[in-house]
Amino acid sequence: MHRTGIRRFHLARDVEEALSLLSAYGGGGALLAGGVDLLRGPPGQVEGLIDITGIGLSQVGEARGGLAVGATTTLTEILKNPAASAYVGGILCEVLRQVAVPPLRNMATLGGALVSAHPWGDIPTALVALGAEVRWRGEREGKAPAEELYRGEFRGLFRSAVATEILFPPWNGAFAYEKTGRARYDIALLNSCCGVGIRDGVVAWARVTVGARPDRGERLPWAEQALVGQKPRESLWGEIQDLVQGQVEVGDDRRAGAVWRRHTAGVLVRRALVRAAEKAGR
Ligand SMILES: Cc1cc2nc3c(=O)[nH]c(=O)nc-3n(C[C@H](O)[C@H](O)[C@H](O)COP(=O)(O)OP(=O)(O)OC[C@H]3O[C@@H](n4cnc5c(N)ncnc54)[C@H](O)[C@@H]3O)c2cc1C
Repeated sequence: MHRTGIRRFHLARDVEEALSLLSAYGGGGALLAGGVDLLRGPPGQVEGLIDITGIGLSQVGEARGGLAVGATTTLTEILKNPAASAYVGGILCEVLRQVAVPPLRNMATLGGALVSAHPWGDIPTALVALGAEVRWRGEREGKAPAEELYRGEFRGLFRSAVATEILFPPWNGAFAYEKTGRARYDIALLNSCCGVGIRDGVVAWARVTVGARPDRGERLPWAEQALVGQKPRESLWGEIQDLVQGQVEVGDDRRAGAVWRRHTAGVLVRRALVRAAEKAGR
C-alpha cells in the first residue's frame, strides 16, 4: 500500500456523516472500506480518507426470498454467513472463494468490489449474472440493477454517494461459476457465471455472463434465448459453446489474445451451464 498525500482521516459514525464529509471535501475526499484498491492508488489525489466500516453496513441476511448484503461486509464475513452459503445453492460463496487469497478477502468488501468494478473481477460478473440490485444514499436514495449501473457513469455517482446494500433476488434454479487465470490465485483471464431453471423438462430461464473479455462481465442475451425452451442435453451445451465462440465480443490485452478468449469463452460457458443444469436437476 503506497498512497501518500493523505492529510486527514475520519472515522464516520453513520451514512449521513460520511456523506457530509464527502461533500465538505468537494472531490478531495474518498470513502475507505477495505482499502485494498483505494490505498494502492496514485499519490496526491485524496486529501481526506473517510472510513465507512463503522457505519452499520456490515451485515448479511435473507431478504424477500433472496439475500441482502451490507456494502461494507467483507468477503470473509459473507463466506462465513449461513444465509449467504445457502443462497441459490451457494453460488455467491462459490464465486467469493475464487477471489484472490484469504488475507485479501478478510479486508475487501462487497461494496468496494462493486465500485472498483475491475473488468477482470469475479464479483462484477457474478453481480450481473445474479441480477443483483444496488442501493445507495447520496443527495437522494437510489437503487438500480448492477447490470444497469455498469452501463452508465457509476464512478461519478459513487464520488458523492455511499453504496449501502446489495440485494440478490431469489432464483428457482441454479448457477455455476468458471474462472481461468494463469495460476490458482491469479485474477481472471476470462470468467463466466451461468444459471438455468428447468421446468417440465425444458430450460425455463437462462443467464449467461462472460467477464474479463477483457471488458467487464456482460450477459449474452442471444445465448440465453437459444437455451430457453430447449431440453437440457449434451448436444445443447455443444451448440451453445459453438454459438458463443462465433458471436461473443472479446478483445486483446497484455494478458491474453482475442483468439484464445473467443475459444475459451465458449468452453467456460459450456462448463458453467453443464454444472448449473446438474445442480438445477437435483
Ligand atoms: C492483489 C489483488 C488481487 C485481487 N484479486 C481479485 C480477484 O481474484 N477477483 C476479484 O473479483 N477481485 C480481485 N481483486 C479486487 C478486490 O476484490 C477489490 O479490490 C476489493 O473488493 C475492493 O474492496 P475494498 O473494500 O478494499 O475497497 P476500497 O479499496 O476500500 O475502495 C475501492 C473504491 O470503492 C469506493 N468505495 C468503497 N466502498 C464504497 C461504498 N460503500 N460506497 C461508495 N464507494 C465505495 C472507494 O472510495 C474506492 O474508490 C483483487 C485486488 C487486489 C489488490
